[in-house]
Amino acid sequence: MADPIKELVFAPLGGVGEIGMNLSIYGLGDERRRTWLAVDCGIGFASEEHVPGVDLVLPDIRFLVEERKNLAGLVITHGHEDHIGAIIDLWPRLKVPIYATPFTAALLEAKRQGEPGAPEIPVTIVPVGGRITVGPFDVEYVAVAHSIPESHALIIRTSSGTILHTGDWKIDPTPVIGLPTDEAKLTAVGDEGVLALIGDSTNAVREGRSPSETDVGKSLAELIRNAPGRVAVTTFASNVSRLRSVADAARACGREVVVVGRAMERIVQVARETGYFENVQPFRSLETYGYLPPDKVVALCTGSQGEPRSALSRIARDDHPEVTFNRGDRVIFSSRAIPGNEKAVAAVINGLVVRGVEVITDRTHLVHVSGHPRQAELEDMLRWVRPQIVLPVHGEALHMAEHAALARRAGVPKVVTCLDGDMVRLAPNGPEIIDEVPVGRLYKDGRILVDAQARTIPDRRRLSFAGVVSIALALSKQGELLADPAIELTGIPETNAAGESLSDIVYDVVLEIVENLPRARRRDPDAVAESVSRAVRSTVAREWSKKPICHMHVLTV
Ligand SMILES: [Zn+2]
Ligand SMILES: [Zn+2]
Repeated sequence: MADPIKELVFAPLGGVGEIGMNLSIYGLGDERRRTWLAVDCGIGFASEEHVPGVDLVLPDIRFLVEERKNLAGLVITHGHEDHIGAIIDLWPRLKVPIYATPFTAALLEAKRQGEPGAPEIPVTIVPVGGRITVGPFDVEYVAVAHSIPESHALIIRTSSGTILHTGDWKIDPTPVIGLPTDEAKLTAVGDEGVLALIGDSTNAVREGRSPSETDVGKSLAELIRNAPGRVAVTTFASNVSRLRSVADAARACGREVVVVGRAMERIVQVARETGYFENVQPFRSLETYGYLPPDKVVALCTGSQGEPRSALSRIARDDHPEVTFNRGDRVIFSSRAIPGNEKAVAAVINGLVVRGVEVITDRTHLVHVSGHPRQAELEDMLRWVRPQIVLPVHGEALHMAEHAALARRAGVPKVVTCLDGDMVRLAPNGPEIIDEVPVGRLYKDGRILVDAQARTIPDRRRLSFAGVVSIALALSKQGELLADPAIELTGIPETNAAGESLSDIVYDVVLEIVENLPRARRRDPDAVAESVSRAVRSTVAREWSKKPICHMHVLTV
């Protein structure tokens, strides 16, 4: 009798039902003896939530930490932050072998070197389109077009069936850099038989096909050629094709390129090291910017998402030490705002417009194209791969629902949607959601990772909303006040609606409460603290209609 088919499961720990924070795991074997393969380990975007002081959101990997000895490897599809951004912080908890292609590995290494104290992270380099064995998983890289070099889909072959994990992809027969999506390999795996396609849903709501990166390059070249003064182009730093298009356009009309912004300098360096910038002219240093005539320069700037400390934001505020833009100059947004960043981007655009700078966006010109497949491209992929099961990922609920509907219309036999933390059995007899794994978020707060469930951030949110009253009392052993209470209000209005000092009102309440406490209670510092705090909070709430945090310090002498 043949061995029974081993269970093959999929569980997203991030990236499903949200854009960003991609981390998927595949498990092979029975519940108690599963071997895991992790795919990608990215960050989410803090701007989507109200998390003051937090820049990065990372997936909670407690499940993988528990299963560490059964985790065979972490395979990286490409170098975008939503796929690699959490590795440096989380890898020390897993110490798992990592596999990536040369550009992605170089990018990770450059990033690691930019972070003081970051651990050494060994990465096994996989050639573009290469094939590796990771535990019981046979993983083949398939080149796909996207908005960063060396993006790959993964063919994951197991004894229980073959999975196509698309990663981020689109169809572009003429990418400026790198290989087009490998239709031949995808068709061949379709002939071989594919159990499940786990696929990018980002642009499933958009009809038709994406324009080519080459057409974007032509449009940028025209806008740079006919610009009357200085030109700045902002784009995602990692979009090496776009950087190359700008460099080529600049050279064609006799302009020098100056790179403004650390993240972009790093990518340019990596692109040169890994051979993606062959025949691209050397760029000029930032210090030369001021000496170049306006019609002889193109500035490549970070800040396409309106990040307040980025080059373009500082230029828009006229706060950049080397780079200025004025009336008659032109700024091209070769990008689109990630959901949640629209306001920040609008602020930068308005700052530039007020200064008389002409701003060009994808609203009126073909200056940007997304790296994700639209509906006709998704249909092509399904026609090539012919999977038994489609499971949409990499999207919000709406994107995944649209992707699922498209797959059903295309005749895919089984379509299933799930959310972060669902465990889906793909074989045998899949798909079926059979279990849940723990998922959640971690916040990178300064240098420390904090659990999203911990009090830190909710406390900070309350602070930002309603301030703090700090009160220090010195009491004798008998409970007599030995000195005036020390009171400090932080983040609270100075006066109430009638113009009376809130600090004075709090002072009076503190004295009144302490003096009226029964003697026995007054001798107990905790009881004093509790009574005073409760009275102060309700008094301030009555005056202000917001309840502050109250910090009590009661000293007994
Ligand atoms: Zn991507
Ligand atoms: Zn992505």
